[in-house]
Amino acid sequence: MRFTEIADRVYLLPYPAFNVNCTLIVGDERALLIDTLSDHAQGGELGEAVRQVTPLEFALVNTHFHFDHCFGNAVLAPEGAPIWGHPDTAKELAERGEHWRLEWEAEYGLDLSQVRIVPPNQLVGREATIQLGGREVVLSHHGRGHTAGDIVARVDGVLVAGDLVEQGAPPAFEDAYPLEWPEALAQLQTLCGPQTVIVPGHGEPVGRDFLDAQHDLLTRLDWLIREGHADAAPQERVVAASPLNQWGQDGLAQSRIAVKRGFAQLSGQL
Ligand SMILES: [Zn+2]
Repeated sequence: MRFTEIADRVYLLPYPAFNVNCTLIVGDERALLIDTLSDHAQGGELGEAVRQVTPLEFALVNTHFHFDHCFGNAVLAPEGAPIWGHPDTAKELAERGEHWRLEWEAEYGLDLSQVRIVPPNQLVGREATIQLGGREVVLSHHGRGHTAGDIVARVDGVLVAGDLVEQGAPPAFEDAYPLEWPEALAQLQTLCGPQTVIVPGHGEPVGRDFLDAQHDLLTRLDWLIREGHADAAPQERVVAASPLNQWGQDGLAQSRIAVKRGFAQLSGQL
């Protein structure tokens, strides 16, 4: 398992389990590792891969609270090491970590019992700039989308988008805000030039065209939900028209979740 350089001192490690992307950004004095995989063993492998690239100390970023992006924290961050994340990510892990651990074990058939859940300790409500020596990384939050607390990272022509952008699978809505996600992507569009490399939370790096297409897709879904709710349509009728269904059964499952959450929000229940 190795990192490969996708831009000047920006390294990508696509991990086989869940196709999660971990991104390592190296400066002259420090490095930054974005997302930490699903458990202690994977976190350990990831730490060894980092050491093949750089001997520098590194801080962590969690793009959001889902286990495949942050359950390696304890292994990768010695006591007190900085872990950057949105306040909502820290809250979910600190207050509901045990709930989520059990939920994900059941949902994915995993044993996460050995994981020590460590929430972010450096909070990014809106934006933070991290100095790595000779270069800086900007972390920012653009409203609710894949979760309530998604963080993206920008450095020198690369945007690390977390699960706000998903390649090779449908966007995931279990904890998402389908009526607000398009606006978050619209903000990401303003951060990207035509040459920007966008690293999704899962799958292959993509370009601006892909981001535009994902924005269009989620905007169509947003309006389908709003129209369906305004017409008091049955949820299944809205689900049947969802553009996520292009991904087959996985897409259909996500459509059901998205429509349910969208209707709930429009009814004041989310
Ligand atoms: Zn996620």
